[in-house]
Amino acid sequence: MSEPAGRAPEASEPILEVRELTVHHGQLRALDHISLRVFPGEVYAIIGANGAGKSTLLRTIAGLHQPTEGSIRYDGQDVTRIRPERRAISGIVMVPEGRRLFGSLTVEENLQVGATYARKGPWTIERVYELFSWMRDRRAQRTEQLSGGEQQSVAIGRALVANPRVLLLDELSLGLAPVVVQRIYGMLPEILATGLTVLLVEQDVSQALRVASHLQCLLEGRTTLEGKPSEVTPEQVEVAYFGLRQGGSGGPGAEGVWGERLPPRSGGGLGGVVPPEEEQLWSGSTTSSRGS
Ligand code: ATP
Repeated sequence: MSEPAGRAPEASEPILEVRELTVHHGQLRALDHISLRVFPGEVYAIIGANGAGKSTLLRTIAGLHQPTEGSIRYDGQDVTRIRPERRAISGIVMVPEGRRLFGSLTVEENLQVGATYARKGPWTIERVYELFSWMRDRRAQRTEQLSGGEQQSVAIGRALVANPRVLLLDELSLGLAPVVVQRIYGMLPEILATGLTVLLVEQDVSQALRVASHLQCLLEGRTTLEGKPSEVTPEQVEVAYFGLRQGGSGGPGAEGVWGERLPPRSGGGLGGVVPPEEEQLWSGSTTSSRGS
């Protein structure tokens, strides 16, 4: 894909700013004084291993968890105590981990759900069908019958029709084969071209580095690395990701921080083989109808 979106000039104001955010799940401190500034038009990536706090951060920005300390500012306003639905209506929209589609509803009905409280903007259901060309012919199919990659595309479409200003993407790669992940991420430039800003969470580091203009690594709720992908070395990322000591000999999995070398995750994994239907899908076929 093309070069990652550049950071806006430092003179511009961040569209999203998180200051010293601390979040607890019961006794567990899932986030510990996390700060970030996301500028208009950029792709900001949060990376980290299982349990690092990535989803907690995204969900807190969306309003689904309340922080114990810190604040969230969006478009110059403090939204820390604003209800999640108000944040969505104002333009903070999330594609949740695991898609969370309504399986018994059709593709189009799921998109209509996303459009219910849509802001005015460039994204319509028609526009989503243009982005994902296979979707129009499959619009009457229940989403529970779709493959993982197809479901992820519908989840992205459902978020886009709300016309977000900040799109929160939680682990798009989860359970999908590498070629499918690359195709989905390949859509990002077209999505960004409509004026969006993206904050994404990824375990697949190589994928995150490919698309991000800025990254932050979390480990056990703390920031371990922050910077531009071009300014961090693979060694720094490995140390930050696994919590290894610099110069150490590495630990279990340390050699695998770069996406394709990560051990497969349960439920499909990043190293999986692409099902033939998925290959067909991404090579432009519109005739597949899994599970029907
Ligand atoms: P993963 O990739 O596994 O989703 P993550 O980096 O997104 O990891 P989180 O899901 O944010 O991490 O979890 C951070 C920590 O908070 C973990 O220890 C997790 O077990 C815990 N946690 C997350 N959600 C809850 C919850 N609703 N109740 C209790 N603990 C939670």
